[in-house]
Amino acid sequence: MRRVVILAGGVGGSRFTLGVREALRRRGEAHQITVIANTGDDLWLSGVRLQPDIDSLLYALAGVNDTERGWGRAGDTERVNAELQAWGGGWPWFTLGDLDLGTHLARTGWLRDGATVSEVVARLNGRWDLGARILPMTDAEVDTIVHLRDGSRMHFQEWWTRHRAARAPERFVNPGIEQAHPAPGVLEALAEATDVLIAPSNPVVSLGPILAVPGIREALALAPAPVVGVSPVIGGAVVRGMADVCLPTIGVETSAAAIAGLYGARDRGGLLDAWLMAEEDVALAPGVAAGGIDVSVVPLWMRDADTSAALGDAALSVRDDEGFAG
Ligand code: GDP
Ligand code: CA
Repeated sequence: MRRVVILAGGVGGSRFTLGVREALRRRGEAHQITVIANTGDDLWLSGVRLQPDIDSLLYALAGVNDTERGWGRAGDTERVNAELQAWGGGWPWFTLGDLDLGTHLARTGWLRDGATVSEVVARLNGRWDLGARILPMTDAEVDTIVHLRDGSRMHFQEWWTRHRAARAPERFVNPGIEQAHPAPGVLEALAEATDVLIAPSNPVVSLGPILAVPGIREALALAPAPVVGVSPVIGGAVVRGMADVCLPTIGVETSAAAIAGLYGARDRGGLLDAWLMAEEDVALAPGVAAGGIDVSVVPLWMRDADTSAALGDAALSVRDDEGFAG
């Protein structure tokens, strides 16, 4: 049984998870996939709890996501949102689809009834046959706050969607994360995994919060499985989105090698056994290898089911090739 654990944010995380699921299906190998998802993007808005990265994963794995727009449900409408805006509720720059609101209402109701975040996410998982289990990184509320260079602060979601990340950030903080615990099942999944994969998600605001939950880094260090990361940067640029705005706040260049350096080699106190980087960045491969990380140079663009499955397969191949036990 192949037990694959993926650390993931929203869009890059979902595309990659779909690729890994497809690769495992094509191999015909018995498998379980567990996704440890970022909840730093979560927020309260108009009385409902939103979990953007959890929902991106959920909708993509269920096949009900809007692939053209890149977020939300396919075929959604915005009648409720229009009415909410007419009342001056919500955020004028933030659209809440009608079907999406159904999810938010269900989630909020369960939370109000006393369910934990993991219990709520488990119920969301149960509606469709996802072929994977999504776990929140923690049950604690640790919403990402951006401290701007002009001294103001706002929720990550306001900075990202209203300001399109254009206002200079100084740092990203997750208040309370030092006291947070990994959600039930997270440490067990890492201890029992045959493969641990770090999705090509935003290193600062998607993977950063996951890795900041006390205990998760330690569990990665001790995991019997190889830890394989995938670069979100191809040819010196982020593939989609604005992750390049976040990297300078932690002093990291927008380069596949710099991100590998940020994660570090596992046998030197970091996270990675292996790093998948793009053909466009082949010149940087020797430098990454010199840092103690095995490098595979493979196509990293996830354009469709085939290219995503090929990337998923390449990530799984690290364990096959190195003959890791398990
Ligand atoms: P978010 O939570 O929705 O912002 O999504 P993630 O954090 O999971 O992923 C965002 C990152 O995915 C971006 O920084 C992109 O560089 C990366 N990404 C998106 N599409 C691709 C792709 O096709 N290939 C690779 N390697 N990275 C991608
Ligand atoms: Ca996100």
